[in-house]
Amino acid sequence: MKTRLTLPGRPALGGIAFVQHQRFECVEIRPHKTMDGRQMELTRWQSHCADCGAPFELLTPRRNVAVRVDRRRCAEHRDPKRRVKIPAGAEA
Ligand SMILES: [Zn+2]
Repeated sequence: MKTRLTLPGRPALGGIAFVQHQRFECVEIRPHKTMDGRQMELTRWQSHCADCGAPFELLTPRRNVAVRVDRRRCAEHRDPKRRVKIPAGAEA
């Protein structure tokens, strides 16, 4: 079985999820307006850096399917070369 690095799309507030052995806690559900003006919700997760254990936060969209985890480390240990995402339309 292939390991999938995902979190539930619609956790309850206070819900706990694990990505491999890393624990993520849903600490907030907040409304969000997208660039094209649509209203949606985001889940704010709190976790601890896979390298040093420092707390960091992650935002994922709330939706009915699992969401991919693209961040598992604190700002200091995040590798900017490995996971850079350039938003559509942005000039790099
Ligand atoms: Zn770290």
